[in-house]
Amino acid sequence: MLNIVIFGKPGAGKGTQAEFLKSKYNLTHISTGDLFRHHIVKKTSLGLKVTSILENGDLVPDKLTIEILENEVKKHKKTNGFIFDGFPRTINQAKKLDEFLKLLSMKISFTIALEAEDEILLQRLLKRGETSGRSDDTDKEKILNRFKEYTDKTFPLKEFYSKQNKFFSINGVGDIKVISKRLISIIENK
Ligand code: ADP
Repeated sequence: MLNIVIFGKPGAGKGTQAEFLKSKYNLTHISTGDLFRHHIVKKTSLGLKVTSILENGDLVPDKLTIEILENEVKKHKKTNGFIFDGFPRTINQAKKLDEFLKLLSMKISFTIALEAEDEILLQRLLKRGETSGRSDDTDKEKILNRFKEYTDKTFPLKEFYSKQNKFFSINGVGDIKVISKRLISIIENK
C-alpha cells in the first residue's frame, strides 16, 4: 500500500497535486478540509460546530478531526492506498494517525511538503477566493492566521517525520505539471 501525506501551507497546491496522485497511482484522496466543508454545507451537527472555526482559519480541535479522518479511512477497505491532504496538522494528530494505521496493519509510506513563500501563497489564495466561494480565502487577516497556525502547529511535523526518515520536500512554485513531476521523482526514487 502507498500511503502518502501531503503537507503545505494553505495555497501550496496540496489539493491539486493530491488529485493528480490519486489518478496516477489509483489512491483514495482524503482531504479533511473538504470533509469539514461538506458537513458545513449539509448543516450537520459537526458542520455547525466547525463553521466559525473554518471561517476564521483556526484549526478544528484534534478530537473532531481525528474522528472524521478515521471514519473516512474505514469506509475504504479495498484501496491501493491513501493520500492524506491536510491531515495530520498537529503532532497529536500524527501520533494518533500512526496508532490508528497500526491497528489496521497499515503505515504512512512517506510525507511530502510543497514549499512556497508566504507572499506567493497569499496572492494565490486571494485569487482563488474570487471564485472558490471560500470565505477563508477572501480576507487577508484570516489567511495570515492560517499561515500562523501552520507555522506553530504543523511545521513541527517536519521533525516528527524526519525522525522516521519519512519527510521529503519539493519546490511548490512553477508549472503544475512540473511540480507533479517533482512529486513522481520522489515517489519513484525512494
Ligand atoms: P488550506 O490548506 O488551504 O487551509 P484545507 O481545506 O486543507 O485548506 O483546510 C481548511 C480548514 O479546515 C483549515 O483552515 C481548518 O480550519 C480545517 N482543517 C482541515 N484539516 C484540518 C486538520 N487536520 N486539523 C484541524 N483543522 C483542519
